[in-house]
Amino acid sequence: MISLPQLVEEILRHRRLYTAGTPDISDAAYDALELRLQTVAPDHPILQRVGAEAGAEGKVEHHIPMLSLAKTYEVGDLLEWAQDRSVVGTWKIDGVSLSLVYQDGALMQAKTRGDGQWGEDVTHKVAWILDCHPRLPATAPMGELEIRGEVYCSEESFSHLLLEMEQLGLEPPSNPRNIVAGILGRKQHLSLARFFSFFAFDGLFPAGVAPFSTETQKYDQLQAWGFTTPFHETLRGKSEITAFLSKVREQSAEQDVGIDGAVLALDDLSLQESLGATSHHPRYKLAFKWQGESAVSRICDIVWATSRLGIVTPVAQIDSVQLSGATISNVTLHNAAYVKGFHLKVGDKIELVRSGEVIPKFLRVVESHAGECSVPTHCPSCHSVLRFDEVRLLCENATCVAQQFGLLLNWIRCVGIDDLSEKRLQQLMDHGFVQTIADLYRLSKKDLLQLPLTQEKMATKILANIDKTRSLSTAKFLSGLGIGGMGIVSWEKVLLLYPTLAALQAASEAELAAIKGFAEKSAQQIVTGLRQRQGDIEALLTAGLQLHTAQRRTATGPLLGQSFVITGTLTRPRQEIESAILAAGGKVASKVTSKTTALILEDLASTSSKAQEARALGIPLWREVDLWAHITLV
Ligand SMILES: [Zn+2]
Repeated sequence: MISLPQLVEEILRHRRLYTAGTPDISDAAYDALELRLQTVAPDHPILQRVGAEAGAEGKVEHHIPMLSLAKTYEVGDLLEWAQDRSVVGTWKIDGVSLSLVYQDGALMQAKTRGDGQWGEDVTHKVAWILDCHPRLPATAPMGELEIRGEVYCSEESFSHLLLEMEQLGLEPPSNPRNIVAGILGRKQHLSLARFFSFFAFDGLFPAGVAPFSTETQKYDQLQAWGFTTPFHETLRGKSEITAFLSKVREQSAEQDVGIDGAVLALDDLSLQESLGATSHHPRYKLAFKWQGESAVSRICDIVWATSRLGIVTPVAQIDSVQLSGATISNVTLHNAAYVKGFHLKVGDKIELVRSGEVIPKFLRVVESHAGECSVPTHCPSCHSVLRFDEVRLLCENATCVAQQFGLLLNWIRCVGIDDLSEKRLQQLMDHGFVQTIADLYRLSKKDLLQLPLTQEKMATKILANIDKTRSLSTAKFLSGLGIGGMGIVSWEKVLLLYPTLAALQAASEAELAAIKGFAEKSAQQIVTGLRQRQGDIEALLTAGLQLHTAQRRTATGPLLGQSFVITGTLTRPRQEIESAILAAGGKVASKVTSKTTALILEDLASTSSKAQEARALGIPLWREVDLWAHITLV
């Protein structure tokens, strides 16, 4: 006999398969499942999604007000506020604040922030959001419990949403930020909410049930219950806070999530309580926003170019405008779905935004010009027919010159071959001297001298520069190959745990995904990337390339080959403990598996889910002192 939570899970799973166009049961079998739920729990929120009439949802009160945050644009203000106190820094996400109210582990109500006192009841809509769990695990406390967080639409999901809204004949949304509020406020097309995600960052737990003393523990608990939490770090002092802000700034350019700043909260919850709140904002949290600068201009042309991954990307050439002190004449239009969804064409007036040093992005249409929009059917480089892969156009010709060119250029920039300019690379390819990366290492002076405007002296210099890259760090090698789209800093982190190419190739997707702070998607990209580029890797090693591990100190140490998971608050900052484990040759993972050496925690009687998993798998529980003993004994 299937339990109620299992039944709900099953129904949601089938709904997702159905909306993805891959149902695995008949409609009748699905209806039977819903009917069963109707019999046992007629009021269950997930049953009320279809045909919910206007007026079925309305204003609901927040028993504890959902305050907004005090904001600053000055780093100085932030540092002054934080003083030398321990704070938890996290992303500021550009979405809609949401509260999920659970009773005895079951989701009873979901409401938006509204004016802080009164929000909108959106229970029926969040049934479509994957990360808003209809039920908490059995370990969650009984009674009323409230989870707060942010609903957002990632750039990737936004592209899919655009296409679906067009098919439904709806007006295109202005941008990912506004569409979340728009769809949550609508009475029709509730299923569009399935393109949204939810980040949990706060919990109001029943009195006495959650004996947390820090903000960090709260995040750990939210994760243990299966919620996705935004990136966060415990910080203290000026240097850690400023380093964190630059890291978040970098992430805002790389991540698929709209991050428009950072939020800092005091880690000590008793301190939070003693500081309290004004009627507008809590005193123990402060948001830092960076100035996103935007401008309006007109599209003069849309140019499509094939990347090294075969993705054909649209770039708009615009009437030049000044933005953050730079003259901007090119703007990325993201992908083909954006062009189709927004009907982008020459003559349109658009708003563009630039944050940090990244390429300016299209934000919204200010004024649409008459005429039809169009996307190419053939690769602008090799002229093969393009495939429309849901949201983007793909050139699948493995020998496409634009892709090869992109791969080579990425290699040249990452490993740093001076004097081999984009133009010279183009000439080398036109002459047929270079097709793959390994060909660079077989170039002769005779070849180079055949290029226009290349004299003996320059040819010698280029060859010497290529020779300098015959010995390089494994991190540089991998970033040069462009595997997983990761930069050198990310690779150095992964290589701390898997110090050689061979070790990395032997690692499974699950092992990589267990690395702390590492997304499942990246793990998958690494594994597939290494497999796809095996030919290039072998060719380069055959051509005589020597790889070395930059950080040899981690290849030894008393914890070599051992893997640890940390939970709860320890006597020293978590980062200090993680660095100590890494320095001693060990690894830090986020999930307890059968390969975990020990779970590090202070309370050996803990009933947290990690502690329970460790006990179930027979993994030893170590207190911090045990860890230090193992590090210093040897
Ligand atoms: Zn092509």
